[in-house]
Amino acid sequence: MEDRKIRLAGMIYESLSNGPGLRRVLFSQGCRHKCKNCFNPHTHSFTGGELMDMDEIIVDIVSNPMIKGVTFSGGDPLEQAEKFSYIAKKVREKGKSVWIYTGYTFEEILSKISENKGWEKLLNYTDVLVDGKFDTNKKDEKLKFRGSANQRIIDIRKSLNTKEIYTINC
Ligand code: SF4
Repeated sequence: MEDRKIRLAGMIYESLSNGPGLRRVLFSQGCRHKCKNCFNPHTHSFTGGELMDMDEIIVDIVSNPMIKGVTFSGGDPLEQAEKFSYIAKKVREKGKSVWIYTGYTFEEILSKISENKGWEKLLNYTDVLVDGKFDTNKKDEKLKFRGSANQRIIDIRKSLNTKEIYTINC
């Protein structure tokens, strides 16, 4: 990939609440979903945030044995899928798991996958997808790893292999 910069709204270096184990969290800049009461409105603009060097991010993640995985959140990481797939591939090769939060449902992703460059590639390096828009009417603070009850925690490897949706109970 020639352009090695990714537009991020921010990063959490060590998180225990965005998937299992200690994780690096990358917040993508840019989102089209407009969920009511979105908790990260500053991530919506596609020109905000900061351009960051992907190779530097990767080296920092893979050189830290304490970090068990990386989580892409947003914004919506699917809007920069090619770039996130580059990071996902490299960190997964080093044994780190990849979780993605997206406002698209799994069904929407599959139906639009041919029109969206990079989505298939990104899913191929993803372990778990937390899907769907945040629904303020279904908000439940007791839920683990998701904001509203409509969102699903999907085992992507199993779901892609079987063409059925396998959710994970956390
Ligand atoms: S998908 Fe996430 S960042 Fe985008 S509007 Fe919904 S809650 Fe906000």
